[in-house]
Amino acid sequence: MVNLKMFIDGEWKDAENQETRPVFNPASGEVISYAPEGTRADARAAIYAARRAFEEGVWSGISAQERSSYLLKIADKIDEYADELTHLETMDNGKPLREAGFDVGDAAACFRYYAGLITKPDGQTYHVADPIQAMVVREPVGVCGLIVPWNYPLLMSVWKIAPALAAGNTIVFKPSEVTPVTPKKLFEIFEEVGLPKGVANLVMGAGAVVGNEIASHTEVDMISFTGGTKTGKHIMKTAADTMKKVSLELGGKSPNIIFADADFETAVDYALFGIYAGSGQVCSAGSRILVEESIYDQFVQRFVERAKQIQVGPGDDPATEMGPLVSQEHLEKILSYIEIGKEEGAIVACGGKRVVANGLEKGYFIEPTVFVDVTQEMRIVQEEIFGPVVVIQKFKDEAEAIKLANGTVYGLAGGVFSNNGAKALRVIKKLRAGITWVNSYHPTYNEAPWGGYKQSGIGRSLGTFGLEEFQEIKQININLQVEPIGWFSN
Ligand code: NAD
Repeated sequence: MVNLKMFIDGEWKDAENQETRPVFNPASGEVISYAPEGTRADARAAIYAARRAFEEGVWSGISAQERSSYLLKIADKIDEYADELTHLETMDNGKPLREAGFDVGDAAACFRYYAGLITKPDGQTYHVADPIQAMVVREPVGVCGLIVPWNYPLLMSVWKIAPALAAGNTIVFKPSEVTPVTPKKLFEIFEEVGLPKGVANLVMGAGAVVGNEIASHTEVDMISFTGGTKTGKHIMKTAADTMKKVSLELGGKSPNIIFADADFETAVDYALFGIYAGSGQVCSAGSRILVEESIYDQFVQRFVERAKQIQVGPGDDPATEMGPLVSQEHLEKILSYIEIGKEEGAIVACGGKRVVANGLEKGYFIEPTVFVDVTQEMRIVQEEIFGPVVVIQKFKDEAEAIKLANGTVYGLAGGVFSNNGAKALRVIKKLRAGITWVNSYHPTYNEAPWGGYKQSGIGRSLGTFGLEEFQEIKQININLQVEPIGWFSN
């Protein structure tokens, strides 16, 4: 059984009322731990600890070089515990070991990226009339509330924590109640490298309780949230009362556009990766494949042929190519979307059922699923399903591809496959989305900004943009001629 506790002001804590909630292995349905079910009082204790640490300057007051050295030590520890973190991630989230291994490597690299970035020059000077010397400096925002989902329990945590700490903020962090295991291990690392008390605080529990307290509390200066669009809207409204800075990474229904002149096998391969990696539980998943009509039938046939061959199984089996869904509740949500698709008149070209063979009946497994004969207004085309379910649509020409691609409330990601470079770039430039690929799908980099247009969010993670999210900007105007201004005569 994994031992789970919260980390508040440098101490490991149970919930103040001792309540817990079970945490399940999605491959077997077994309980792997009991997580503290934090309360509003626990959240407040964490907020006050972060506030005190911020005001005392134990973190913001040290040099960027010193903060950087802590971040580098954290990265080294992530590497040292890579095997353990990988196995814990697979056990808690269900993802195959090879996916979890990539996440752990990316997490260490993200800390190293921000360890380097924060030591580089920033700020500006600007030219105004003598005798004023004018400049801009960047400062930490203060106490940052960080709330993350369950699909990349470690990596989504690190995408927020690394830049927030690099910038000199103190944090109150809340993982998803479904996947608190690797975030807890990360906080053990923070303790091991000796982060000053109160700088990084971990609270667990329900979003509506602990998350709401963080989003509404006056002593929290910023809320950085990754999760569903509905929750994001709620958090934005809640945070408005105290005028917090808000950064939101939300859902998507991203188009993957395949032209007839694309390299066919490459397009099929990336389209499969785009939807079935992470069992489709990826915010940027290419969940709408748009195919030019002259190759549509050939594409569907090949895609379905390959989707049927994907090895579904427990994440800790090296032969597994696609793991389970994260929870029973999520499995039921995906199955209900498949029913909705059928009721709407779409045709299931493959999959569509829970996998119960080969001893998988206790886990939350589902077949890679393809819907064809869909129309743009169907719910399965418009709504984020967040599972291994893709719709394949047909388009006539470039203009129709763009219209269909942009025809949802989301704008997170998108891809174009074509061997005509000018056409590919023309289409990408028309996509109303923040993350795009040409002849590729999914890879992302610590150096590049991550975030969406429209209802996919506000702000950006990663890169220089991701650091700036966690900084305030201050202008300083210094009078070099110190004498009265003489505006009033007496
Ligand atoms: P969710 O919105 O249900 O929960 C996310 C987090 O918010 C959890 O920690 C939850 O406890 C907390 N929360 C819930 N209600 C809250 C409230 N009222 N106040 C404060 N916090 C609250 O999302 P999920 O089901 O965990 O994750 C899946 C969603 O995350 C998908 O929509 C996916 O697209 C999105 N996502 C987006 C990105 C991105 O970068 N854009 C990345 C990963 C996941």
